[in-house]
Amino acid sequence: MAEAIPPALERLIKNLMRFPGIGEKSATRMALQILRWPSSVAKELGASIMELHDKIGICSRCFTFSQEDPCSICQAAGRDQDVICVVEEPGDVVAIEKTGSYRGLYHVLQGVLSPREGIGPEELKIKELINRIKSEPAKEVIIATSSTAAGEATASYLIDALKDTGVKVTRIACGIPMGTDLKYADQMTLKRALESRRSL
Ligand SMILES: [Zn+2]
Repeated sequence: MAEAIPPALERLIKNLMRFPGIGEKSATRMALQILRWPSSVAKELGASIMELHDKIGICSRCFTFSQEDPCSICQAAGRDQDVICVVEEPGDVVAIEKTGSYRGLYHVLQGVLSPREGIGPEELKIKELINRIKSEPAKEVIIATSSTAAGEATASYLIDALKDTGVKVTRIACGIPMGTDLKYADQMTLKRALESRRSL
């Protein structure tokens, strides 16, 4: 980086470049923008980043991000306790919650199977899912992994792994275009995919 850039600014630019799709040019523009903000606003941004890891943990029941344990969804009265929707990441929980049409619980796998990246069943919360089904009054498990190759491979693995539990297993419908990451599907498509899930 150019010598004219003060070290504090350079540090921020380098950190902003950690975001996917943010190169040096965009990061520089963002950093200069922050520099123009009133000091109190910039400090608020910094403080909110600092607070993130201290305040947010993982729900020990469904493994989504949460400020409490169990999370607010697991604790909510009036949610169907016998339906578990299995998703890849906490972002998928947010996407499904936004549709407003799902009233069951979730189980976040914390990723998808990816032999190339060394992610096998042990690295995901699959064992925990099977334990939940055994100890909770689960009647239906909805597999809502993405329609990407890795998402489909994970779904197949789960269908097989859940076979002996006796629970009803459904897969969200194919309304979601092939190769789409669940959290990028629009709300209407996601709502319809959930409603027209099929039994396996
Ligand atoms: Zn939870």
